[in-house]
Amino acid sequence: MLTAIVGINWGDEGKGRMVDLLSSDYDIICRYQGGNNAGHTVVNEKGKFILNLLPSGILRDTTVNVMGNGMVVDLEHLCNEIKSLTDKGVTITPDNLKISDKAIICFPYHRMQDIWEEERLGDKKFGSTRRGIAPVYADKYMKKALRMGDLFDIPALSEKLEGIVEWKNITTAGYGGEKIVFADMLRWVKEYGEKMLPYICDTTEYLLSASHLGKNIMFEAQLGALRDIDFGIYPYTSSSQTIAAYAPIGAGIPSKKIETVIGIMKAYSSCVGEGPFTAELFGDEGDKLREAGSEYGAATGRPRRVGGFDIPASLYGIKVQGADCLALTKLDVLSGLDKIPLCAAYEIDGVRTTAFPTGERLLRAKPIYEYLEGFKEDIGMCRRMEDLPKAAQDYIRFIESAVHCKIKYVSVGPKREDYITL
Ligand code: GDP
Repeated sequence: MLTAIVGINWGDEGKGRMVDLLSSDYDIICRYQGGNNAGHTVVNEKGKFILNLLPSGILRDTTVNVMGNGMVVDLEHLCNEIKSLTDKGVTITPDNLKISDKAIICFPYHRMQDIWEEERLGDKKFGSTRRGIAPVYADKYMKKALRMGDLFDIPALSEKLEGIVEWKNITTAGYGGEKIVFADMLRWVKEYGEKMLPYICDTTEYLLSASHLGKNIMFEAQLGALRDIDFGIYPYTSSSQTIAAYAPIGAGIPSKKIETVIGIMKAYSSCVGEGPFTAELFGDEGDKLREAGSEYGAATGRPRRVGGFDIPASLYGIKVQGADCLALTKLDVLSGLDKIPLCAAYEIDGVRTTAFPTGERLLRAKPIYEYLEGFKEDIGMCRRMEDLPKAAQDYIRFIESAVHCKIKYVSVGPKREDYITL
């Protein structure tokens, strides 16, 4: 069984907690794109964890975790993340963590370049997480990047790195930044790279043989459909492919097809960073939702922009993800609202539509809000649909029919057991 768990919207939908919950049925969990700009929060019996690079299955004793070739890996960050988890009692060994030899290394100069560019842009900035993700993916496609497998041959790596640093310093000079020193970069990559060597392998071979043995493989996405570099709100996207269709490629098993796509969708909307966010709510209405949902970035701590559930954006996200079913998360956050705000459609140039636009048309879209009956009860302990207040049940059914896709799970709290199966 090959399953992808993906975000339907802008990210932060609660994918980490759903992967943690559903991973009990899977042998292998693969991250297939992105880097440490992700922040998956998982709360289970071992404690609260924020995972940036490691797949969320790392918190289960029985799953093997793969960091695929589609990822970009900041070695220093990964070493620290592994240490912080092992300090909390999580076991991480080459038996339960495998890193693709084709994954790209994110260097400190990528981080610097990210920061310089955001600063150069001033108020036109993209709202990057400043972790070097866009520069490192750009270098991958410029064929000026180093891969995890290069760490096995330091003399060859050193030669390549020297040439890359020379080239990078042309960019550095343009920004007026401090020159990158090759010896510093070599020291950095040797120090952190050496610790990662036991984990690096040919993950394609590993995944293919696991698949032939009938193992269940889950692909875990970072961010959501609207941040996909091709299908998202370009240029306010991430620099990688977040959609399910890319999962087998980015994980390292391109010859296999995904059988099931589970889309994760929040009961309201949130968006971190810049760019069009049509359903955004401001003032008191927005503040209440942000506080109730603790909507602050897991990777950066930045306050997230919030809004009501966005039907046009979700319809689009479900379509490009090819979701077979959905998990609706954070329903409990809506408790206490007299009326639940919901962005039913957009108005673009005077015309009502539920078709999600791209480019300039998206910038002109205005939200058309409708309100459904709210509920006051604390629903955190509900474990069956019948336990939920009628207004909450009506809300779930309304969304399900509006997005034309089956809602299979509803989560009502951050802990592993806080969910309802429909
Ligand atoms: P991800 O990047 O998609 O994994 O999402 P994040 O981890 O950035 O954000 C999800 C946040 O919501 C985390 O803090 C989770 O612990 C929390 N969370 C997930 N599901 C629920 C839920 O049903 N209710 C509440 N209150 N919090 C939830």
